[in-house]
Order: sequence, then C-alpha cells, then structure tokens
Amino acid sequence: MIEQINNLLPQTQCGQCGFKGCRPYAEAIVAGAADINQCPPGGDEGIVELAQLLGVPPKPLNPTFGVHKPKQVAFIIEADCIGCVKCITACPVDAILGAAKMLHTVITDECTGCELCIAPCPVDCIVMQPIATPLSSTQKYAKAQHAKRRYENRLSRLQKLAEAKLERARLQKAAFAQSKVK
Ligand code: SF4
Ligand code: SF4
Ligand code: SF4
Repeated sequence: MIEQINNLLPQTQCGQCGFKGCRPYAEAIVAGAADINQCPPGGDEGIVELAQLLGVPPKPLNPTFGVHKPKQVAFIIEADCIGCVKCITACPVDAILGAAKMLHTVITDECTGCELCIAPCPVDCIVMQPIATPLSSTQKYAKAQHAKRRYENRLSRLQKLAEAKLERARLQKAAFAQSKVK
C-alpha cells in the first residue's frame, strides 16, 4: 500500500507535506499519522487519486501545507552565480550541473520545481519560471516516476559515500591503534 500511495505522489520531494519526501508521507498516511490532503504539488487531482485508492471521500487541500501552483522549473541567473555548490547539495534529483567556483546551471528536463535550491543560494540568483506547456496526466505520471528513480539513485549514492567515509575512518583508527602497539 505504501508503494501504491507513493506512486500516486508527484515525487517533487519538496517536504511541504511535513515529511522528508514523498515516501515518508506515504508511510505516514498508511500509519494514520497524516491525512490525504497535505501535498500541495499534487493538488486536488492528487487528493482524488489518493481517496479513490484508499476508498475514502476526497477533501480540499489543507492550506496549512501550502497552495497548489502551476508547474515551474528553476533557472539560474548564471552571471550572478558564485559557484558555491550549495544548490547542488540541496537538489533532491541531481538536476543542477556545476562545480566549485564555476557557474551552475539547471537541467530543465530533470527539475521537479521543488524550490529547495532557492533558500540556500547566498546571492539569490535562482528564480522559478513557469513551464511553457502544461503537462497531461500521462506526462505528469511519467515525469514523477523518472524523478522517483533519480531521487532513489541519489539516496543510494549518498548512502554509499557515507558508508565509505565511515569505513575510511575505521581503517585510520585501526592503523593508528596498530602504530601505538609497535
Ligand atoms: S511532493 Fe507532496 S508528498 Fe512529495 S514531499 Fe512534496 S508535499 Fe510531500
Ligand atoms: S533545480 Fe532546484 S527546483 Fe529544480 S529539482 Fe533541483 S532543487 Fe528542486
Ligand atoms: S547556490 Fe546560487 S551561487 Fe551557489 S552555486 Fe548555486 S546558483 Fe550559484
């Protein structure tokens, strides 16, 4: 059921529902810890789909969690970018290209419009722009599934990096202890 609910969510991973991503929100719905009307990116359309899946009546989006906006993507004003990399760290779907002290750019096709890169930018050079053509339901679903894969790949990569860091620290500690014995 968690996976079925997660598959209906927009995979924006924005956290507006009060949870750290779409899957934790799906888990909270199943656990009875969240209502079906807490996802602004999904809007009323998403609430109706969740209600149908769960066999409960739909309800309006709870404004406490935000308002539904037309789909937008981030755009970096490259002339102002100082290459601090903070936006790359914040982006849940690896939709930003750049390197330290180099200008950064958004891969528009990969951007989910989550806005998580806006606040960390120290020079306010990221703006949101509406997409030119609204997406059909089929296109929205395909994009959400693509974003889900990118998000999961990112989580897996970060997990491996954290494990490798821990292993390096463990080996250094062991080598230090060994050198003390000698
Ligand atoms: S897209 Fe919806 S479910 Fe996913 S994190 Fe954002 S508000 Fe939560
Ligand atoms: S580029 Fe910004 S708005 Fe787009 S997905 Fe990444 S963090 Fe979200
Ligand atoms: S956070 Fe802003 S200044 Fe820093 S790399 Fe990203 S766009 Fe450039």
